[in-house]
Order: sequence, then structure tokens, then C-alpha cells
Amino acid sequence: MSFHLTQVRHLVLDMDGTIYSGSTLFDCTLPFLDRLEKLGLGYTFITNNSSRGIQDYVDKLHRLGIPASRDQIYTSTDAVIEYLRAHLPEVRKLWLMGTPSMARHLEEAGFVVGNGSDPQAVVVGYDTGLTYESLCRTAWWISRGLPFIASHPDRVCPTDQPMLLVDCGSFSACLTTATGRSPIVLGKPDPRMLDGVCHRHGLRPEQLAVVGDRLYTDMAMAQRAGAVSVPADGRGHGRGGRRIRSAARSGDPRRGRTRPIAGLASCKRSPTLTRSDSFDVALPQNCVKRRRLALQSRPQEPPEDAAVESLVTK
Ligand SMILES: [Mg+2]
Repeated sequence: MSFHLTQVRHLVLDMDGTIYSGSTLFDCTLPFLDRLEKLGLGYTFITNNSSRGIQDYVDKLHRLGIPASRDQIYTSTDAVIEYLRAHLPEVRKLWLMGTPSMARHLEEAGFVVGNGSDPQAVVVGYDTGLTYESLCRTAWWISRGLPFIASHPDRVCPTDQPMLLVDCGSFSACLTTATGRSPIVLGKPDPRMLDGVCHRHGLRPEQLAVVGDRLYTDMAMAQRAGAVSVPADGRGHGRGGRRIRSAARSGDPRRGRTRPIAGLASCKRSPTLTRSDSFDVALPQNCVKRRRLALQSRPQEPPEDAAVESLVTK
């Protein structure tokens, strides 16, 4: 069904593949962000990659010419913090299998990450400096029954190098095999990834529009949360979200990607913002398992302004 955009107040922008590729900013990104500013729409950059801290992303965006502030970045580590505060408020001491940047991020939020004795929960992130000893110690604490949280489900991290960058989802699978326990998995496409953005800005999910290049993470998260989903190429998902299903069923991380936000910034044909009444999606970490995701159709609200409409039709 066609979805009215007038209630959207804030855009959630995926980074790699949407506003840049690696270290190359897309030509359309700065004009797109400038247009958002002129329209009075806020925006947050979002990523599953928990190997880097907030300041790392701020520095990278500044190098690319985007004057982002810390509160405009939201990573899967933020989702971990949000989850711990909401569901395990007694937890202060963490056992972390993650990078020093991720540890700093958690410590800045008030957690003790000493990897010493008596941790209260285990957090697994994209630990690019993983050692065998750390893996084994992490498995031991998980086997003791502590809450087991994975920052995101990605099995590999995209790279243009001749290697597979083994990511958090693969670490979690290894630990699950060793311990017999499965983690609570946050990060895209988990809709809780948007909770922190909503809390920061006092918004509801339906007031967010998520722009991203991956159908089975970015778009699936938006649809599961009840936010507006905007494929970065400006194309719709197809009837019943069939592009999302097709990408997820393939199990190939290279499929299900869209093109950069040129679709929104300069596409000659008007991009469409649509959302399906319901769709099936096979989660990328388990292509056999399918979940039926039903979205309630909401009554259309009277237009308040035409900001987003003009954004996607120019
Ligand atoms: Mg991306």
C-alpha cells in the first residue's frame, strides 16, 4: 500500500553502501544531507559494525566532509547499552569479547569492562583482534549461564580485499556450538535497533524513515519496527516485499543490495516509498527459518507538511 510520508520527522541512514563505499563518499550524499537540513529533517547514521567506537565514526565522517556530531551516530553497541539498561538494569560488570573501542564505548555508558572476575553478562561484538584464549574464556563464562548478548548477526563484514572478514554472527555461531547456548542478537534487522533513536529524539517508529542498501537488514528492520523503509536506490520492495524475501533466501550477502542514494537525490523517476501490509523474510543468519512479519495498516494521518514528499519526488 502507498504510505503517507507526512508524519516522518527523522531519517535513519545506513552508512556503508548508502552514503559511502569504503572510504569513498557518493557524489549524491552531501546534496542529499543538505536537502534534509533545508527541509528541517533530522538524521542519524546507523551501523551494525561494533568494532569501532562513536568517535571513530565521527572522525571518519569528518574526513569525508560530513560534519556529524556524536549524537548523530548509532551503532549496535548503542543497542547493547539500550538493551542492558532496559532488560538487565542490575548488570554493571561485563565480560566483553570485542575491540578496545567497543570497551571504551561501554565504559563511557557506565559499565565496568575489566574482563576480571564475577562478570554479570557476556557481550560479543565484532572483535577484530580476537584471540583463541579470549574465545575460550568467553565460552566458559557463557557456559556458566550468564546472559549472552551478541551486538549484531552479520556473519561477514563487507570488504574489497581477497578475504572473508569473519564477523560477530560467525563468532556467536562458534560459541553456540561450544556451549549449547544461543545469544540475544541485537543490531539490524532487530527492530530494537531503532529504540535508542526514538528515545533520543522523542519519536515513534512510524516517524522514522530508514534509508539503506540491504533489504534483509536495513529494510527488514524498518518494516519490523513499523518505520518507513526506503531502499537506497529509491525502488520499492515489490509486492509483498518479494525483493527482501528473494535476497534473504539466497543466503548470498552480495544479493539484496541496492544502489546508492542517488535514487533519492537525483533519480529521474520518482522513487516510491511503500510498505507492505505483510511479508515473509528469512533471516540472513538462518536461511531455513522464516518468520511471518505482519504489519498493521495504520490509518492515514492528515498531512502536516510536505517535507518528505518533496524530498522523494524532486
Ligand atoms: Mg550498508
